[in-house]
Amino acid sequence: MNQYISIAIDGPAASGKSSVGLRLAKQLGYLFLDTGVMYRAVTWAALTKGIDIFDESKVSELASNIMIKIDQPSIDDGRVNDIYVDGVDLTWKIKEQGVNDHVSQVSKYHGVRNTLTLQQQKIALQGNIVMVGRDIGTVVLPNTNRKFFLNASVEERAKRRYEEEIRRGGNPNNTEILDNVIKRDKIDSTRDLAPLVPANDAIIIDTNNKNIDQVVEEILIKLR
Ligand code: C5P
Repeated sequence: MNQYISIAIDGPAASGKSSVGLRLAKQLGYLFLDTGVMYRAVTWAALTKGIDIFDESKVSELASNIMIKIDQPSIDDGRVNDIYVDGVDLTWKIKEQGVNDHVSQVSKYHGVRNTLTLQQQKIALQGNIVMVGRDIGTVVLPNTNRKFFLNASVEERAKRRYEEEIRRGGNPNNTEILDNVIKRDKIDSTRDLAPLVPANDAIIIDTNNKNIDQVVEEILIKLR
């Protein structure tokens, strides 16, 4: 039995989950976990070690062997968590295009999902938490009665990702970002295992034309 409160926030790429989730967690004094970084960390490790991304058993084995460490942010550079894999700081590396291009493939694998889901469930036992991802309300924390699903148009989401990269000093390509968001949405929502769908009891929030504070406020009102 989990004695702590868990708030599940799911939604497609760049729907605002991480920014909203982090701000909500800060306001409530809760822990925060962006589960997408864990799938990204496995993808980065596979690419770096030269493991074939389409080899399900090798990638799944890797997921159970690497040590992913997630801490509250130590540097104020826009990060939402510190991410270490086997002691290496990967916080920004896991946002790179190579990872974007392959993460949804890696996220389809049974072995990868089982390993990461168990780790996420253990983290939820450490304290009150806001956890964001694709399957938090449906698979990771199905028993919480605080579930939200954020959505926005694909154009709006690609625009947010583009602006985020500009803020980080990158030189993003608009079309590439839009294509990647569309492709990841398709793979994430049509996969057999833990597809991206709102839980039956999730409250759906449209984040088009809303800033982070407005969405956080909307969630706080629902929670009250
Ligand atoms: O949220 P973010 O865009 O960083 O997630 C990267 C990818 O990780 C998603 O496109 C999805 O394939 C996968 N993911 C997942 N389940 C989660 C969180 C992320 O499958 N709970």
